[in-house]
This record gives sequence, structure tokens and C-alpha cells, in this order.
Amino acid sequence: MRDKLLHWLDTERDRQLEFLQAFTRIDTCNPPGDTTEAAQFFRKFLDAEGIAHRTEAPQQIFPNLISTFEGKSPGRHLVLNGHLDVFPIGDRSVWKHDPLSGDIVDGRVYGRGTVDMKCGTTALLFVHAYLHRLRHELPGKVTLTVVSDEETGGRWGADWLVRNCAAEVLGDCVLNTEPSGIHTVRFGEKSMLWVRFRIAVPGGHSAYPHTSPSANKIAASLIKDLEAIEAMVPDEPETVRQTLQRGEVMEAADRSLGQGGAGVMRRVSVNLGTLQGGVKINLLPAECVLDVDFRPPVGITRAAVMEKVTAIVARYPMVSVEELLSGNPESTWSDPTHEMMGHLTRNAAAALGYPPQPIVSLGGTDTRFWRRAGVPCFVYGCSPAGMGGIDEAVSIAEFRHVMHVHALAACDYLMAGRLSG
Ligand SMILES: [Zn+2]
Repeated sequence: MRDKLLHWLDTERDRQLEFLQAFTRIDTCNPPGDTTEAAQFFRKFLDAEGIAHRTEAPQQIFPNLISTFEGKSPGRHLVLNGHLDVFPIGDRSVWKHDPLSGDIVDGRVYGRGTVDMKCGTTALLFVHAYLHRLRHELPGKVTLTVVSDEETGGRWGADWLVRNCAAEVLGDCVLNTEPSGIHTVRFGEKSMLWVRFRIAVPGGHSAYPHTSPSANKIAASLIKDLEAIEAMVPDEPETVRQTLQRGEVMEAADRSLGQGGAGVMRRVSVNLGTLQGGVKINLLPAECVLDVDFRPPVGITRAAVMEKVTAIVARYPMVSVEELLSGNPESTWSDPTHEMMGHLTRNAAAALGYPPQPIVSLGGTDTRFWRRAGVPCFVYGCSPAGMGGIDEAVSIAEFRHVMHVHALAACDYLMAGRLSG
């Protein structure tokens, strides 16, 4: 079976690449996040392969595809997950390679979303098709989920599917191809806590500072206090702690996330995203609004961060607090010693010459919705470098590598399900 997979992975290289280029030419920028044309493009491919599928579209412009097939005998249910929507393009004129071109230059496919995650979603589509061709030999069941609305929170995409089509999409294990860097497999991710601080004071003429405090000066002091939250010490589950503290893991994390990323992976980050205060140079600012993005690591709950926030704000009676993004899951993690980690690592190492290391993702992915439901998820994808930026481009070699590793890991996982009875 592995030979057949390797054969298709190799002989259909042109078809895989052409699909990725054509997918890149379909605008799926979010906002607005309209993925109807892209979903149709995927359906056409599945139809051509004779693979059954259906569409769930809780919002018309956010279709989600579900494609399930059964193997020859009962076994494990493997789920493959990727998203269709991508970051916005911004000013198109500053791109050297048009963001909707899919042009190939020096071994890279150019275009918005090629890294995050059109290459990964394309890879899983082909993996799904190849596994489907082996369905008379494979045990178990495979479900491909191709979703919308990832870049804006997943409410109408993965979150919706997991809540409303649980029996079909939850499965026993999830593979996802978000850009992780080929040196690392991500078994968990930090969570998000978005908080708006509103400072309101009387204000007045700047020549009369004795008549009112300044909302902006209070903001400056508040920001300093909030930064202290970064010092919170996580209470990591033992298996996570043992994994992350290994020298080679921290090294790989720095390589994958950028120097310093390994430290950020294990602590709360505090980003003052926007700050709006005052209206004029010679007025005492009466209002200042700060939007702060906290990213708690595994081992620190959002509630624990919120408790610190509340304690800090209690020292500032003129500050009110509003939590944005409510209902977002906690930081999620799957067992880094899970069997799937072995399949991914072994197959990747055979191709790379060294094993990728298990780390926690700084950013969020749709896997959090599956992990929240108790399903183990593992993320392995191309290098995140350049994602969301100008002249985003994915390495064709990495695109092929990712497809190769997922195809073999998926096959090994399903086969091991038969062996373990
Ligand atoms: Zn993504």
C-alpha cells in the first residue's frame, strides 16, 4: 500500500501543483471570506475522483465540505482538516508577484494564502483521494473536512461542524496541515483572551492638569501593570512539561517560531494591539481605549489571567473591562506521546534525515475545536515564514514533503488500528 501511495505522490506531481496554483487564483480572502467558488473547485475534484461528499453551509458564503469513506473493515476513524479562507491581500500594488497569480518562481508558488494554508489543504485533499483509492485494502474510515471562516474564528466553519456534525467529523484522531515548519509537529496551542480596557475621566484644558486626571497617563501606567502578567508561571501537565523542557525541543521551537519563540511558547504574551486616546494636543484626554490580546500557554487558564486582570484593574476605579471573543476554547493540547506523533515523526525523519520535534503552537488553529471535544490533533505543515505577508510563497519541495508525510502517517495509523484489533 505504501508503494502505491508513493507512486501516486510521485507520478501526480504536476496535477498536485496545478491544483494548488488554480486554488491560489481563486480569491478566498477573509474578510469577506467568501469560499463558494473554492468549495466548488474542491467538489469538482472529488467528483472526478468518484469520492462522495456533502456541503454544510450554515452561512451561504461559508460552505464546509465533509467527505467520508469507509475502508474494507471496521477500525479507526481518521479526520483530515484544512481551511479554504486566507488573510486579506492589503495593497495589491506593492506585491512583486500578484497575490492571485499562483506563479512559480525559483521553486515556490506565489500568492496570498499559499503558506496559510492553501498548500496544506491541497495536500490533504490529495491524501484523501489516495487513501480513497486504497479503501478496499484499508481498515477504518477517513473523513476530510474542508472548512471556511478559519481566519475569523471558525464560528461558521470548524466550530460549527464540530458542534453540529459531531458524529461525522469528530473521529479518533485529526491531522491538520497548518504551517508548522517541517522541523516541528504541533501537539497543542496557546489560547486567546482579548480584553478591552476603557478609561474614562472628566478631561479638560491641558493648562489645567489639576482639574482632571489624564486618561492617556492612566493607560501608560495600566499597560506597565498588565505586562507583569507575562511572569505568570504555567502549571503544565507532566507529559507536556517533560516534552517541552527537552533541549532539542526548545531548539527546534526557536528555529520554527523564530529566536525567542521557545520562551513565548511557555508564557502568557501580552500584546497592546490598539490604543486610542485623546482628541487634541491641548486637551486633557477624557477617554482612552486599549485592546489587549493575551495568549495564555498550556497550563494557564484564561480565567487565571482574567483574575490577574481584575486584580490590576481594581486599582484603577476609572477603568472598565470588557472581554471580547467570549466562548473561545482554553489552550488545548494532545498527548505528545500519542501514537500519531510517532507516525508523523518517523515518516518525516525518513525523508528529512532527522526527526521533527513536538512543540506547542503560538497561534490558534481549528484543531482547538476537536481537542476541546477530546479528540487528539496533530499539526504538521510547511514553514510559516511569510504567511500573511506581502509576496507570500510556499516552497514546492515542502508542499510535496508535507503531502508525503501525511499520506504515509495516515496509512500507518489506519493499518495499526487493524493490528491492534
Ligand atoms: Zn491557517
